Amino acid sequence: MMRRLGRLAAAAVLACVAGPAAAWTNHTLAAWPALAALPEMKAAPAIKAETLETFLAAEAPGLEQLLQREEAWARAHVALYPARPDALAFRAGAAPAELRRRFIAALRINPNMKLKLFVQALPGASTAGEATLPWAEVTTRRRESAAQDSVFLQLREGEPVAPLEVVATATDEPDYGMDIGLWEDNGTAYGRAYGFGKQPFGNPALEFASQAPFHMGFFHEHPIVYKAAGFLQRTYPEYRIHLWQSLAVYALQTGHAYWGWRFAGWALHYIEDLTQPYHASVLPGVSVTRLLWISTLDLLGGHEARKQAIILVSNRHLALENYQYHRMRDAYVRHDESDALIRAAADLSTDAGRETLSENSVRELISRESSSLAGATDSVIALSLPAKYVSDPAYVLGETEPGVDIYRLLEQSPPAAQAAMSGMIGGLLRNFGAYTRAFVRTLLARAQASPRR
Ligand SMILES: [Zn+2]
Repeated sequence: MMRRLGRLAAAAVLACVAGPAAAWTNHTLAAWPALAALPEMKAAPAIKAETLETFLAAEAPGLEQLLQREEAWARAHVALYPARPDALAFRAGAAPAELRRRFIAALRINPNMKLKLFVQALPGASTAGEATLPWAEVTTRRRESAAQDSVFLQLREGEPVAPLEVVATATDEPDYGMDIGLWEDNGTAYGRAYGFGKQPFGNPALEFASQAPFHMGFFHEHPIVYKAAGFLQRTYPEYRIHLWQSLAVYALQTGHAYWGWRFAGWALHYIEDLTQPYHASVLPGVSVTRLLWISTLDLLGGHEARKQAIILVSNRHLALENYQYHRMRDAYVRHDESDALIRAAADLSTDAGRETLSENSVRELISRESSSLAGATDSVIALSLPAKYVSDPAYVLGETEPGVDIYRLLEQSPPAAQAAMSGMIGGLLRNFGAYTRAFVRTLLARAQASPRR
């Protein structure tokens, strides 16, 4: 009985984790330099923008088969995979609007995504005279989105565009609402139809929390954690990455380079999210012993320790992303590409030994490495930033002081603290850059191996 109650208490603690679900804030800021460092990307000739409707009209029969194979792969290879209901299988042979509806349903993404043609301009880039797209046309999210600070340039069908711009833009797109509301308890009609089941963890009533199980991968926890809270095994970045990668290969092989690079960017998003240790570990900085102690207190009615632990982990998670975002954004605005974080993402010297990816790299390499860095990452944040932001449970980052800029604040701190944060985040961005490039090399090799036409 006590053991079962202990398990329930641990489950209650763990069910509340994973509040913030963003990982890197604005992936494009780091994906761009990471990919520009690849000669084959930088020199790639321009491609033509193509609407989703045109792509589907041209390729529906091939996509019908591809998505069938993809579903069979996921059922066979993704642990605890919630199978796509057969009624949602993509079928060719319909008018453009209906094909689009069927395609989005088969992918099981938020049908409110407009999926228009656009590229994100880097902060500080001159965009005078270019047609822009309001952020509300790009994202379904209405608050807490860095997209509100970004400039989106509209593309017309057939307009030439560099593959680098398409892929770097698309790396940020899965945070624009694509995976929001997909669970059956999210109060959406599509969530009830998609067959993913109930949201495994996080508050199903909070819009942004619903994307977390697709953008996090908890593959390397202590067995006690899984025993207490088996729902933590229901994270699905591998499903998303494989799906977008297969679509990218198909589109590149069939002469639809625009969609090839856009799908590639979507796959990259989830790979990059897993290089953020708070996305690959449930409670960085909290030992299993401490977790069990907090759970026991919780069981005895002392809920304070639980609430505090969750706020601290959430504040540190957000502090990392807040620092990365403000620092990189500032550097671009100043046209300072010698900034250490931009250089870290572009650092080719870290690619040695991890030039390409295999089918189990997401779980066995990327998330394993990232989760092994979780404790050290958490310590650097706790030791380098003023205690108010990362060690005081009465302070909720982003709410207590909206618009707080952790990068600017750290400029008042001792140089050693600044260097520790810069070095730690630079190290993470080296992994971000290396795996971003490894994915693209692997993709190009696969697309060139057996062109379909
Ligand atoms: Zn994400």
